[in-house]
Amino acid sequence: MLPFLFLEKHYFYKGVNPSGFLLANWRWGAGASLGDLWVPGIPNNMPAILPSTVTTSLKVSDLMLDSLAWNDALVRSTFSVGDAEAILSIALSTRRVEDRCVWRLESDGVFSVKTAYSHSFSLSPSRRPNTLNVNGEFWKKIWKGGIPTSVRVHAWRVCNKILPSLEMLASKHVELDSHICVLCETKQECTLHLCCNCPYTKLVLQTNSSVCQVCFDAQTEGFGIIEWLSFCAKQLPQKAFEELLYLLWNVWNERNNRVWKQKKSLAIDVALRACAGLAEFRLHNVRARF
Ligand SMILES: [Zn+2]
Repeated sequence: MLPFLFLEKHYFYKGVNPSGFLLANWRWGAGASLGDLWVPGIPNNMPAILPSTVTTSLKVSDLMLDSLAWNDALVRSTFSVGDAEAILSIALSTRRVEDRCVWRLESDGVFSVKTAYSHSFSLSPSRRPNTLNVNGEFWKKIWKGGIPTSVRVHAWRVCNKILPSLEMLASKHVELDSHICVLCETKQECTLHLCCNCPYTKLVLQTNSSVCQVCFDAQTEGFGIIEWLSFCAKQLPQKAFEELLYLLWNVWNERNNRVWKQKKSLAIDVALRACAGLAEFRLHNVRARF
């Protein structure tokens, strides 16, 4: 069994693949190759091996003596002065344990989706974790069980600005024939336009008077998509807010039918379908509870 490098507060990682995306991490022990990322406190955690004496097929354990101390002379002849000092400053464990896989972003080494998500966004120059300026009540209203999961997920994508609208696709350098909204065929398509400003969407929302009254309140002039939806969530009772989300999901489906199936429906038909669909969902869900 290979001796284990005792690292105290340090972990050694092999955390980044060639594309720069975090995959997994190994707590490197003495079984690590000299070419691995195993030395804390130096750039990239990878020591520069001097070009004469050894190859990267050697293991860290080859730098140790049987007494579980560093082979000072071998370390100094193998690495640059700074890297050798960094290596020799690592205290060795008297225990002999295997290397093990840890998640370096958690103190207990256990993988979590939350830290992976934050880290992957932090690596991307174009995206950052969303810090939406909304409170927990807003999310509760979306995630309550009164609408199908697909509708809730659609609302969540809208809020997180990941709906693949033409504007969003263009920002990802996707080549597009047109940036014009297929519903109104006049304005550029973005999430705010699809959900709120598009004349076609307005026709759909106008079929529900309580929803319409809040959605097009003069106060919402100039709001972004989050502010607008958050305002609607605050002002509308739960059921009416669910109806709004259901209508918006149906508008998105209509948009997709036009893009992918070349099928068009009138706004009134989309609204009637949405109304019938939600009524049926509510009926079955009420029945399911009893
Ligand atoms: Zn439009």
